[in-house]
Amino acid sequence: MEYQELLHRCFRCGWCKLPLNFVDINCPAYMTYRFESFSPGGRLWLIRAWLQGDVEMSDRFREIIFSCATCKNCVEACALPKIKDNLVDIVIAARNEIVQTGKLPGPVRDYLMRVYDTGNPYGKPQADRLRWTDGLDVPLYRDQEFLLFIGDVGAFDESGMEMARNVAKALQLAGVSFGIMGEEEISDGNDVYALGEKDLFKHLAERLMKGFGDRGVKKIIALSPHSYNAFKNYYAAAGGKIDVLHFSHLLALKLSNINGGTLQARVTFHDPCYLGRWNNDYNACRSVLGGIRGIELAEMERNRANSLCCGGGGGNFFTAMLGSGPDSPSRHRVREALDTGADILAVACPICRKMLEDAVKDESAEDSIRVRDIAGIVLEAAGAWH
Ligand code: SF4
Ligand code: SF4
Repeated sequence: MEYQELLHRCFRCGWCKLPLNFVDINCPAYMTYRFESFSPGGRLWLIRAWLQGDVEMSDRFREIIFSCATCKNCVEACALPKIKDNLVDIVIAARNEIVQTGKLPGPVRDYLMRVYDTGNPYGKPQADRLRWTDGLDVPLYRDQEFLLFIGDVGAFDESGMEMARNVAKALQLAGVSFGIMGEEEISDGNDVYALGEKDLFKHLAERLMKGFGDRGVKKIIALSPHSYNAFKNYYAAAGGKIDVLHFSHLLALKLSNINGGTLQARVTFHDPCYLGRWNNDYNACRSVLGGIRGIELAEMERNRANSLCCGGGGGNFFTAMLGSGPDSPSRHRVREALDTGADILAVACPICRKMLEDAVKDESAEDSIRVRDIAGIVLEAAGAWH
């Protein structure tokens, strides 16, 4: 297995499951299950035991390996450089080994099969990818400055579709020239990669790169931080030359084009893992919020590199291998947001949006806080909210 030679370096200090200020547990999987084997270091030792032949590749083993949200919280905390630099890649490599055996947990197998068969994890017809545009004037990409890449959750999930509408409307309000791929967009493969199915990822990346090339696309705006990460890091590593921005980058640059308006609200911001820890961007969304009069930004105790994952990364949004309940990371996160006294929990990822909306309902906190994406906040402040 790739990285096998590094595993013995982890000395099980356990720092990786704690946040940098040690106030709580920071690994979503350990937070939910409370078994050491679900912690980052514990998972590494389990992989090592399996490679040495000390444990079998059981259903339980697979459940533990696929419960990691690839949030990189552990990477911030681990003190050993070689382990730290590759901690999540080691988990992905172990997943790839399991993929090779063909014996996957049912939800992971079903997710990958749907992507393979239909080009999206919902198993829906590609024609449905345009449903979010109903009532909007959003053109297909021809020769506009940007391609707006919607992603699976923005195209198929009801909450994600609302976010897609908000982003498109906010970009139009800011005067950004963009078009979409519509029915010919397919899964970006970020979470396929995180689940260790590297061959399927390659297939998706090649198809999308061809689609971008055929259209002469030069610059992409990604709705989802997961798409942004795939294009910026994985496609680039495979030789794809893509100039990609997250939609928050555009809004931060163009906010002055919008008559910003005012929104009297106390807002707390949830950093998406694939924008923050994966791509070291903690400022664009805060810059957008800071540019709106009346908004008071109240940080949660864990923010930026220390931010707690919503639990939806690494394919868990679709596979639910991480489980749910009061100890789930999204429920913890909503309680942290409530502690700030904020009226609005701001998000910049359609997965975070849906995970936290559900958690607000599960915490019976709908009367105290509402989840709103950054683009929706811009529209609301500008008086352009539907
Ligand atoms: S992964 Fe790093 S922080 Fe975690 S137990 Fe191993 S050495 Fe310690
Ligand atoms: S990436 Fe996140 S879920 Fe996975 S082991 Fe590290 S802290 Fe836990």
